[in-house]
Amino acid sequence: MATSVPTTMKGVLIEKNGGVEVLQYRTDLPVPTPKEGEILVKNEFIGINYIDTYFRSGLYQSPKPEILGREAEGVIVATGPGGELYNFKSGDRVVFLGPSTYAEYTAIVASKAHLIPSGLAPGLAAASLLQGLTALTLIREAYHVQKGDFILVHAAAGGVGQWLVQLLKAVGARTIGTASTPAKLQLAKDNGAEFLINYKEEKDLVGKVKEITGGKGVHAVFDSTGKDQFENDLEVLALKGTLVSFGNSSGAVPPFTIARLAAKNIKLLRPQLFGYIAVREDWEKYTSELFDLILKGAVNVKIHEIYPLAEVARAHTDIESRGTTGKLLLKT
Ligand code: NDP
Repeated sequence: MATSVPTTMKGVLIEKNGGVEVLQYRTDLPVPTPKEGEILVKNEFIGINYIDTYFRSGLYQSPKPEILGREAEGVIVATGPGGELYNFKSGDRVVFLGPSTYAEYTAIVASKAHLIPSGLAPGLAAASLLQGLTALTLIREAYHVQKGDFILVHAAAGGVGQWLVQLLKAVGARTIGTASTPAKLQLAKDNGAEFLINYKEEKDLVGKVKEITGGKGVHAVFDSTGKDQFENDLEVLALKGTLVSFGNSSGAVPPFTIARLAAKNIKLLRPQLFGYIAVREDWEKYTSELFDLILKGAVNVKIHEIYPLAEVARAHTDIESRGTTGKLLLKT
């Protein structure tokens, strides 16, 4: 390991599941040593994703103690002893997906890192990677959206939601965006949503979607909220429609009888991003496309706030309280 790398670092550790009080900001964590096929990155910006709250609360299980976080960007400071390192070397600026990113240093498998294009402003790669790849893979692989399709996007002003709305606009789909406040709906409109529904206020969301679609329903629903909208989703789909349920911000969808899909020959998916980018070629393809889209100005990446690492609890409180629009970042 390079001599300039210290032995201890700042980071956020959890030893048990719970509320934001279990997030421990520490200054004495050991700096990891990269193993075969790994690189050691000195993180500069760390992406916050809703999934981090699930690993904190216990909705998703993971071994403890654990440094939270799934995404960051920074500079490589050391490489592991051999293995497939994809030509990465110390000094390279990379963005990556992987565990334990709420820290000054992360050791990560090289296969889940990508060089940051030189034209990208600091923080933009970490602000885009996980949410942008999620949206891009969902509209290609979960349901391949076609021009003219009616698509319902819930939480349209959220991190993934803003990506979805902009990418759908580029495809030429007709997007119905939902959100909980007028300001969020305006943001969805600015991003290209043609129709807007305040799903906190609207008593008849199903009727509204039917009205918009001339009684037919939508070709697909992209639902990151989970429990609260699931029944509505089944109702608003057209014959042979696709329900992509990909998150739990309102809670997990309860057990479900598949025979209910028969009434309209509905396809139901519960995908996760990592399944779409597990193969290195797919990772390269989608990540390169994502950065091309940003560099040519086809999408606008909205950063909600950059929080100091020590204020991680405030960031978790903010994202869970529905007060955020776009990406939350931590800065080391
Ligand atoms: P967001 O920025 O979208 O934040 C969550 C948003 O969800 C809120 O702003 C809120 O918008 C909406 N929401 C609806 N109901 C609730 C509720 N009861 N409590 C809190 N928020 C609620 O977060 P992300 O973009 O990081 O993630 C969005 C979702 O996508 C998450 O569920 C996440 O797990 C999922 N996801 C799944 C992936 C996968 O691979 N399957 C990958 C990435 C994300 P509003 O106020 O408008 O309702």
